[in-house]
Amino acid sequence: MSKNKSTMIMLSLFVVVIVCAIASVFCIKAVLSEKLNIDIVSQNNIDKIDINNKDKVLVDDTVVPTKTHATVPIFMYHFILDDYGEFPDTENFLKPETLEEQLKYITENGYQTIFMDEMDDLYKYEKPVGLTFDDCFVYFYNNAFPLLKKYNQKATIFIITDYINGENYLTEEQLKEIADSGLVKIESHTKTHEYLDEMTYEEQLEQAVGSKERLEAITGQKVTVYCYPSGRFNNTTIDIIKEHYDFGLEMLGGVCNTDTLKDNYHITRIYANRTMPITTFASYCAQSSVKIEP
Ligand SMILES: [Zn+2]
Repeated sequence: MSKNKSTMIMLSLFVVVIVCAIASVFCIKAVLSEKLNIDIVSQNNIDKIDINNKDKVLVDDTVVPTKTHATVPIFMYHFILDDYGEFPDTENFLKPETLEEQLKYITENGYQTIFMDEMDDLYKYEKPVGLTFDDCFVYFYNNAFPLLKKYNQKATIFIITDYINGENYLTEEQLKEIADSGLVKIESHTKTHEYLDEMTYEEQLEQAVGSKERLEAITGQKVTVYCYPSGRFNNTTIDIIKEHYDFGLEMLGGVCNTDTLKDNYHITRIYANRTMPITTFASYCAQSSVKIEP
């Protein structure tokens, strides 16, 4: 072997060793950083698991307390519209900006909006507030629904089923979209919005059952809350509703207190009118409280 050739081999070997060494450093670095990432990820997972476990310990939905003492402000809205034009009952028209101000207040102050079919589950909440919309018309879809989505707040709406697909009313498609959002529960406000206390038993039964079946067919969700039109009802209404619904809502009566409530068919509400100042709204919210007896 010539001296030149062996020098060449030595040089080549040297280069190979250097390349291998550099490659090893990169490999080790890569492995280390990957391990580091895995560690960070698993650390995050551990954190997440810990948080979830902590939540489960703090709020155990499966344990129902023997008694709940709750005070819930349930606001009753009608139409969310800036300009009420020729309509009468102007106090029923709340400006979208007023509703937004109230939703912002609820969100920023940690109040929890509930569905009306959760009135037996108040022990799951600390600061519950109910938002209910009667009659609705298309103004709910155009002006209130986008705000509820923006602030991620729940509401219950009461629909007059014979009005569906009619002029200025909600269509079946809109109702389905609203129900599918998960933010709004759709409940019954009868078929025709006439005085229940002036109807026969059969007529009242048709109002209660007919409207329930129509809404359930549209949304695919259970309808368990009945809202008496104009707040008018009689003993026949209550007998029928006890048979076909879980809850009945009155028009007025103020902040709802579970200790003084006659039963779930006389749930009281606060009239959220056009001129209610935010300070009044806030003072109603401040009354929200839940105390449980284990
Ligand atoms: Zn109504």
